[in-house]
Amino acid sequence: RPSVAFENVVFGYELDRTILHGLSFEVPAGAQVAIVGPSGAGKSTIARLLFRFYDPWSGRVTIDGQDIARVTQASLRAAIGIVPQDSVLFNDTIGYNIGYGRDRATREEIVAAARDAAIWSFIDRLPDGLETEVGERGLKLSGGEKQRVAIARTLVKDPPILLLDEATSALDSRTEQDILATLHRVSANRTSISIAHRLSTIADADEILVMDQGRLAERGSHAALLRAD
Ligand code: ADP
Ligand code: ADP
Repeated sequence: RPSVAFENVVFGYELDRTILHGLSFEVPAGAQVAIVGPSGAGKSTIARLLFRFYDPWSGRVTIDGQDIARVTQASLRAAIGIVPQDSVLFNDTIGYNIGYGRDRATREEIVAAARDAAIWSFIDRLPDGLETEVGERGLKLSGGEKQRVAIARTLVKDPPILLLDEATSALDSRTEQDILATLHRVSANRTSISIAHRLSTIADADEILVMDQGRLAERGSHAALLRAD
């Protein structure tokens, strides 16, 4: 499992406004790190730089010490599985949505790949299982079901790095806890970066980075940060 690092990263979207002011942190191989902080602190910007939607003005983002600017887009996409807050699904079945990202020739193979990801016990609870239609943009599913499909779709590709950008933030807290428990199980031993805004959702993280106005304000364990509160 790879390590991830930001080294003195300076970045802004507009020429006259710096968003990240020389940000440095490391996520050790296999560690689970959570990033929290107020809205506008720069958390999603970190996710966008890691996925190379943008490049830093200066500094580097590295995976296993290698500057991601020197890695092909294809291998970067293979290395990082991202789950956003609001996933868009195909107007097709759950099985197809989970399996499509794999390199499979036929529809049957695609759906079969999804079966491997059926750690998602909710699928058994739906009458049509993997054949359940998700509807336009996933509208036939509840928010929680939709996010489970999105997470399974990412996990089926077995990415060594998992990047969760507010993946459960829009859900009610019971559904959120249910999904987090499963996520904790499947992300053990995977390098994982979880962007969140509720401290309650990241109690399992090895380390928590607190962002404020584009800078690292604090870092520590969940318990240490609660003590400091
Ligand atoms: P801060 O507000 O943290 O002092 P600055 O805005 O001064 O940050 O920028 C920090 C670094 O980023 C400097 O080396 C600067 O030259 C570089 N920089 C600033 N704006 C841009 C830009 N639009 N394109 C490329 N590099 C930039
Ligand atoms: P967070 O995820 O912590 O809420 P973001 O990383 O989304 O914060 O945003 C950090 C700052 O960058 C905010 O001030 C936001 O307004 C600004 N920002 C985000 N995306 C863009 C963009 N595409 N263009 C210009 N500014 C942006």
